[in-house]
Amino acid sequence: MTQKTPFPLMLSPLPLKHGRLKNRIIMGAMHTRLEALPDGVQHLADFYGERARGGVGLIVTGGYAPNSEGLLEPNGPILNEPDQVEDHRIVTRAVHEAGSKIVLQILHAGRYGATLKTVAPSPIRAPISPLTPRELDSEEIEQTIRDYAQCASLARQAGYDGVEIMGSEGYLINQFTAPRTNRREDQWGGSPEKRQRFPLEIVKAIRAATCDDFILIYRISSIELVENGASGAEIIDLARNIEKAGADILSTGIGWHEARIPTIACMVPRGTWSFAAKRLKEAVTLPVVAANRLNTPQTVEKLLQEGACDLGYLARPLLSDPHFVNKAAKGRADDINVCIACNQACLDYIFTGKTATCLVNPRAGHETELKITPAPVRKRIAVVGSGAAGLAAASIAGVRGHRVTLFEAGEEPGGQLLLAANVPGKDEFRETLRYFTRKLAAANVDIRTSTTADAAMLRGGKYDEIIIATGVAPRRIDLKGLDHPCVATYPQILSGAKSCGERVAIIGTGGIGYDVADFLSTDTDENSDSVRAFLNDWGVDRGLDTPGGLLPEGPSTAPCHRRITLLQRTSGKPRKPPGATTGWALRKRLQRRGVNILTGVSYERISDDGLHIRIEGKQSVLPADTIIICAGQQSRTGLYEELSMLGIHSHLIGGAKQAGELDALRAISEGYRLALAL
Ligand code: NAP
Ligand code: SF4
Repeated sequence: MTQKTPFPLMLSPLPLKHGRLKNRIIMGAMHTRLEALPDGVQHLADFYGERARGGVGLIVTGGYAPNSEGLLEPNGPILNEPDQVEDHRIVTRAVHEAGSKIVLQILHAGRYGATLKTVAPSPIRAPISPLTPRELDSEEIEQTIRDYAQCASLARQAGYDGVEIMGSEGYLINQFTAPRTNRREDQWGGSPEKRQRFPLEIVKAIRAATCDDFILIYRISSIELVENGASGAEIIDLARNIEKAGADILSTGIGWHEARIPTIACMVPRGTWSFAAKRLKEAVTLPVVAANRLNTPQTVEKLLQEGACDLGYLARPLLSDPHFVNKAAKGRADDINVCIACNQACLDYIFTGKTATCLVNPRAGHETELKITPAPVRKRIAVVGSGAAGLAAASIAGVRGHRVTLFEAGEEPGGQLLLAANVPGKDEFRETLRYFTRKLAAANVDIRTSTTADAAMLRGGKYDEIIIATGVAPRRIDLKGLDHPCVATYPQILSGAKSCGERVAIIGTGGIGYDVADFLSTDTDENSDSVRAFLNDWGVDRGLDTPGGLLPEGPSTAPCHRRITLLQRTSGKPRKPPGATTGWALRKRLQRRGVNILTGVSYERISDDGLHIRIEGKQSVLPADTIIICAGQQSRTGLYEELSMLGIHSHLIGGAKQAGELDALRAISEGYRLALAL
């Protein structure tokens, strides 16, 4: 008897004009920079091949420029010459052999291009770029359209099943369609019809240059989230015209890169933007794809059931788990390594010039060199500490066939991850804990909670390898009055062990200081609609008339009921919250809630009156009911040192090895890589 799947809609095929997709999951386009590595083509083939083996219905590559003016960065991906085709065949073959389809995304960066050749419909600099683009003339626009068609034709020769035209996120096509960036008065600008002409001509030219069985996806900006952007009504009109021009699938993107509203960060509730996909689905007969913060099969299935979309576009969730679809299909959704929307190792890496990988899956982007193979010799391994580093080490060692014992002093595994999961928006870390816990069980790891491992338990040849992942302890600072009852450590606050008063001073503006400020300034209401609250908080309008989908009255954040002050010793500007692509949103949110930041502070003492400080020589008292120390961490190395003194070799990883700059990304990666080497 065949078992009923819990995700019948997500796993059902999607009929197309010619052929079909085997399920409703598209791996969304993502710039990885893998192509820039030595042997980059093989890396790409291994990367996409693994996702294809994982069951995804269709893969969209990262964006390829159709000409050199469209490059995102010097030496960025481009497909404009016949001699580039052969390399692409290696990638398309790998995906086809694994039973999936693949389309090439054509992306012209327009004014987002970080090259001296950057062009746009009008010479207006983007707020996120130092470069002013050159205005395209009419002949160059015609040539650009031909370049799109040539790129699609080359993609067909390379074995791609189709192309996706990137008409979203503020790139060149958006720059034509929105009044914000198109000030032209010729046949390419002025009225909404003339602004739409560029994408419509591209769709028609690609259709003419390829043929009917070549899948043509148009990625439309379903809500722009920028001032003077297109309204919902204009976007619906464009969608209908794109359908008439010959597209097969309408994929929805959210916001422009220059929008000051977070669209994919962890503070965005799952499925937030489905309303924008739904209004397009109601306007066209084409299959419509929803995107952004769809990280579990349950979320995708719910949106399909609600009629918000026909397909889900998942990029980061397939970085974190290439086998997302197969696991869901086999009734093993609980084994999915869920993307926690941290951006730390994917978008932040790309933003800072590195190759993308994933915080919860260090193998992402390293499929070619990191292989999980059975251990040649089955060893007895002790792992001490079950924070991020210990969990990764124990689970991968166990999966490889080692006999692993995991010691944890606390009542449950998780370490700092348990604390992080209490921070608003970071509750996705619970998914990481669930994933690792399932993996430990599957690998028969012997988990000993409430057990503080000591040298006596580890010595005497009981273990072939010992891994010390004992993590960190909050740094103790030197300050008079630290024993005052108003003083708390950050673990006491985040775990709820200590309650917090109305007037709060937070010592330290590192990631933890900001997390604690966010935690304490968030008024949680279990019954509130989190999507509605998020949209109001950021001033997003679900209506059809406002330009860019922005509420005219702006965000409606209420100042928080606590008076919170963050303090740092360093003078000048406040330190930025961590996260190249997410920190700005947290800072904005805290500003709107009225969280204050003082810099150049010397701490003098703590008394019943509060925190005595000095700024630029001037003494004052910051009244505080609670003073929270977020002054960084110190490594817990006691056990490692004791073993070393006894001449017992052990491996030191994670925060226990290096507390400064510690984060879950490095901890998981170290644990994972060590376990592969044993
Ligand atoms: P941190 O980033 O090292 O920050 C420690 C803060 O304490 C600094 O603001 C420092 O600023 C202050 N400080 C240091 N020694 C002090 C002393 N003796 N007395 C008073 N103040 C002192 O540490 P953290 O906030 O605990 O974060 C730890 C790691 O986790 C970091 O690498 C961080 O990036 C990472 N993290 C990342 C995220 C994320 O979302 N990506 C979130 C949380 C943490 P001044 O010296 O200027 O006062
Ligand atoms: Fe998701 Fe974070 Fe991994 Fe990026 S690094 S794919 S956001 S879990």
